[in-house]
Amino acid sequence: MSNSKGINTICTHVGELADKEFKGAVSPLYMSTSYAFEDVETKRYPRYFNTPNQVALAKKMAALEHGEASLIFGSGMAAVSTSLMAFLSSGDHVVFQDSLYGGTSNLATEEFDKFGIQYSFAKDASADSLKAEIKENTKVIYIETPSNPLLKLTDMEAVAKLAKEYNLVSMIDNTFASPVNQNPIDFGIDVVIHSATKYMGGHSDILAGTVISSEENIERIFQMAKNFGGSLSDYTVWLLERSIKTMGIRVKAQNENAMKLAEFLNSRSEVANVYYPGLKDHPDHELARKQMKGFGGMLSFELNDDLDVQKFMKTLQLIKPSMSLAGVESTILLPSKTSHGLLTEEGRAKQGIKENLLRFSVGIEEIEDLMEDLTQAMAKSK
Ligand SMILES: *Cc1c(COP(=O)(O)O)cnc(C)c1O
Repeated sequence: MSNSKGINTICTHVGELADKEFKGAVSPLYMSTSYAFEDVETKRYPRYFNTPNQVALAKKMAALEHGEASLIFGSGMAAVSTSLMAFLSSGDHVVFQDSLYGGTSNLATEEFDKFGIQYSFAKDASADSLKAEIKENTKVIYIETPSNPLLKLTDMEAVAKLAKEYNLVSMIDNTFASPVNQNPIDFGIDVVIHSATKYMGGHSDILAGTVISSEENIERIFQMAKNFGGSLSDYTVWLLERSIKTMGIRVKAQNENAMKLAEFLNSRSEVANVYYPGLKDHPDHELARKQMKGFGGMLSFELNDDLDVQKFMKTLQLIKPSMSLAGVESTILLPSKTSHGLLTEEGRAKQGIKENLLRFSVGIEEIEDLMEDLTQAMAKSK
């Protein structure tokens, strides 16, 4: 199946394994951890990322992100850490944008010193601020757009240009957008990483990660990956393949609901601010139109000060509090008490995260039911 097919066709079919024996409709699952080594070309072993199901799903991932090759990992952080370590040696330097996923900034601040890897965080997500941090020994530039939790955007084309100019590898965490809404390789970014736990899995029941790039880059990441050992069990690979079949329609439904909810919240007198790249007054709206195909299922908002945010969260009935995101069910989180709870209030303020900011992962429920839930909770939180 060609990689130039439309998104839903790629989601449904690319990489599927034929069931030659029984002609079943779905890819057979091969759970073997032991394969014959005589008279075969490939020495197969799950930690070598080359079992039939792993290879099949990697083809789908590469097609989804318009790359040449891919690896499937046991978590998003396994994909992030292995990809970074593959391009960084002792004495090298990496530039990160600000407001990164917490696990990724922890990886740098808690682990990199002992490997002799230097890092800087740019003061914001603009290409100019990233450029200001580039040093003689910089090897990698790493971005995440849209960002968590304020949905700020980074200009991917500008970052790719910068990376070419300074001969750096550009990497992006594309989890929040999903391949349905954004394909960074089309803008010149080298390495695309996803926590497949989020939109790819989509049902809050799979932990996985993936990296997509050129054949050459994936070979380099693979050499590190087989030693670090972060591959994904074939059963979960198979479940992830199944999940991705509906990713296109799930994410489009989430985009649509998020746009309607952003407009709805924006129109309410109880709401102080709404952050969603699809809104015309979002500071990065024009950039979002340029580099995104859909504006995504994530939004954030602040209630007015006279509303009790804790009470609001407790009063919601359909929309559940949750640490994670991107499932078909709508969930909500208070970053100041959870994902960004370890920062001081000033630290949060510096990043623009107010104490009552709510991050909303919009699901596929009926829009009227979501609006009704928000309305009743606002009424009871005054
Ligand atoms: C969840 C997440 C990760 C980490 O993925 P895991 O699957 O939890 O290891 C990385 N980046 C972003 C943006 C995430 O949301």
